[in-house]
Amino acid sequence: MDSQDIISTDVLIVGGGPAGLATAIATADKLKQKGENKRIMLIEKGNSIGSHILSGAVIRPAVFKDLLTTGEFDGIPFDSKVNDDVTVKLNEDGGSSTLPFHPPYMSNDGNYIASLGQVCRYMATLAIERGVEIYTGFAVDSVIYEDGKVVGVKTKDTGVDHHGVKQKNFQEGTIVKAGITVLAEGTRGSLTKTVVEKLNLDNGKNPQIYSLGVKEIWQMPKDTVKAGSVKHTFGYPLRDKEEFGGGFIYGMTEDRVAIGLVVGLDYQDPSFDIHAAMQVWKTHPEVSKMLTGGSLMESGAKTLPEGGWNSVPKYYDDNLMIVGDSAGFLTTARLKGVHLAVRSGICAADAAVNALCNNDTSKSSLKRYEDLVNKSFIYKELYPT
Ligand SMILES: Cc1cc2nc3c(=O)[nH]c(=O)nc-3n(C[C@H](O)[C@H](O)[C@H](O)COP(=O)(O)OP(=O)(O)OC[C@H]3O[C@@H](n4cnc5c(N)ncnc54)[C@H](O)[C@@H]3O)c2cc1C
Repeated sequence: MDSQDIISTDVLIVGGGPAGLATAIATADKLKQKGENKRIMLIEKGNSIGSHILSGAVIRPAVFKDLLTTGEFDGIPFDSKVNDDVTVKLNEDGGSSTLPFHPPYMSNDGNYIASLGQVCRYMATLAIERGVEIYTGFAVDSVIYEDGKVVGVKTKDTGVDHHGVKQKNFQEGTIVKAGITVLAEGTRGSLTKTVVEKLNLDNGKNPQIYSLGVKEIWQMPKDTVKAGSVKHTFGYPLRDKEEFGGGFIYGMTEDRVAIGLVVGLDYQDPSFDIHAAMQVWKTHPEVSKMLTGGSLMESGAKTLPEGGWNSVPKYYDDNLMIVGDSAGFLTTARLKGVHLAVRSGICAADAAVNALCNNDTSKSSLKRYEDLVNKSFIYKELYPT
């Protein structure tokens, strides 16, 4: 992008996670079906698609069938199909017991373990094939309004030092004007926060609440990992009625294991530290036996929006839609948001194309997005949580 230009597009998507990429793919497909030729841009702040993605991830695959062709669906780089799925209570004395049933929503029958970053890279190639313009390495800094309505965004200025002083290589951020702006920034999106506040989109809603997921990927010795195995833990080191959460251990191909601990950020004990708790969790024999002889390859942490339906803000306005984690679409009991992110992208794309074809991107037109979400499994999964 040339920093001096003001760029115009019909649809602008901020964020190249599953929600943004699904929006891009579905918008391109629906425009093609209508014989319309419109510009679709997606801006991702990571240096490449997938580089900022952090997830489990066990993915519910069915929604991808509504997004992709059969051949494309078959090509999704899932790692392995879940073939073993247990929930284990960890005791403080080092003992453990496996539940003889799955807690509600926790069954992973038919699901796949995957690197979500790889899945996103695959989705990006499919979006580009459909004519979507994807720009990586540009962080969107602010939303632009005219007459109180969203009309686009501005990317971050570059060449500014830590004190805010412009350097010789200063370049002003690019203004991107858009008929429709879709915010797909993921959890705690900085633009979403400002838009929700400015447009009062959370009026009458509960505040969003979050948990923090700390994740590591381990490389284990050859032939020691059962790919497709899923183990969720609860109990140690989290204290009953003090901290809410649990752990996950996902076996992947090439003897890799994805492990993590997710804990609600509403704990009261100020000395509790989720990163430290993760290290303590790893010392429990049920976990440590999975890691013996292995080495840590990657680690990271990210929040999950877990407030459920009553914390979802109004997720559309004039020229604006909010999708995926940014809208709070995550099923806490399942520890899953990817399928909701993709479904919300499909719903938003339908509303966007309808609005563009009717030359009406007002909120009354984009209410179609809300109607579609309410008819979808997003509403069904979130409402009771
Ligand atoms: C530890 C952990 C485990 C999880 N396990 C699972 C699981 O097993 N199964 C499951 O279904 N879900 C799981 N989830 C949830 C799942 O990862 C999310 O629901 C899903 O990734 C949401 O997709 P999204 O596209 O809305 O956001 P994200 O995947 O977060 O993508 C947002 C993208 O937007 C980009 N972005 C953000 N701000 C800007 C900006 N200003 N400018 C440009 N780009 C921007 C980011 O770099 C990122 O690439 C887990 C989450 C965590 C943290």
